[in-house]
Amino acid sequence: METAHTVAQALATARRRLTQAQQTPAEADGLLAHQLQRDRTYLIAHPEAELTPAQSADYAHLIAQRCAGTPVAYLTGRRAFRNLVLQVNSHTLIPRPETEHLVEQALQLGPANASVLEPGTGSGAIALALAHERPTWQITATDISLDALALAQQNAAHHRLTTVRFVHSDWFTALTGRYDLIISNPPYVATDDPHLTQGDLRYEPQIALVAGPDGLAAIRHLTHQAPTYLQPGGWLLLEHGATQGAACRTLLQQRGFNDIRTWQDLAGLDRLSGARFLHRTSSSSRLI
Ligand code: GLN
Repeated sequence: METAHTVAQALATARRRLTQAQQTPAEADGLLAHQLQRDRTYLIAHPEAELTPAQSADYAHLIAQRCAGTPVAYLTGRRAFRNLVLQVNSHTLIPRPETEHLVEQALQLGPANASVLEPGTGSGAIALALAHERPTWQITATDISLDALALAQQNAAHHRLTTVRFVHSDWFTALTGRYDLIISNPPYVATDDPHLTQGDLRYEPQIALVAGPDGLAAIRHLTHQAPTYLQPGGWLLLEHGATQGAACRTLLQQRGFNDIRTWQDLAGLDRLSGARFLHRTSSSSRLI
């Protein structure tokens, strides 16, 4: 990138580079604000502000990485999720707006003083958002990845959210006890899904995205195991792919869940399914 001396010049050059690389030119602003540790209004108010040669060089490097495809959230190390700004890194999925909707449903379904389990917490986004918005809930969050748990714990400490307990566990293996609500955004992308070779997904951990040939391996496991860890009448709430609503409902039904529902995301696509487990002793729900 040619040397930029002012904010306006740096932005103009970066937008041109991003456009040439088929990225979104408006990302130039957020990345420069991050680089200068200012907010965007500073950039608008001070187009003539001079960048030091070091700042120009660092910004050029940031834009080059974005042009090559590195997700913005990994470049800034941050992503907003509901009311929190979370640290993110390449050990975890980047929190998505669709998952905010999962949190929204949990807030409505969970009883007062709920005990909640979030298997596969990644950056901690779901557990920490719930802790922030329902301070009386007792929340357990697990992950198989120690790197992910370390990040989630950093996020909890940063936001002083002390009601979340973090446990190193492969789904339920390290857990005992029963919960009022089990909530998860598990991996649900099929192994050969072409989206894995596009956009941000190329940079995110496969373990957080991919779940077997039909993308349902983790959802199948969670649906099967969850009743052992649910209080009578407790809810299981899962995020899933846009074409997986019917398959999720079938899995929940086969396992003996009740009140099975699917919710759509803001794009109108099936995105969450949930159900309650009543622990009845009938032929359709085996004793556990
Ligand atoms: N919603 C993500 C995507 O396809 C996948 C997240 C997940 O597997 N949990 O972009």
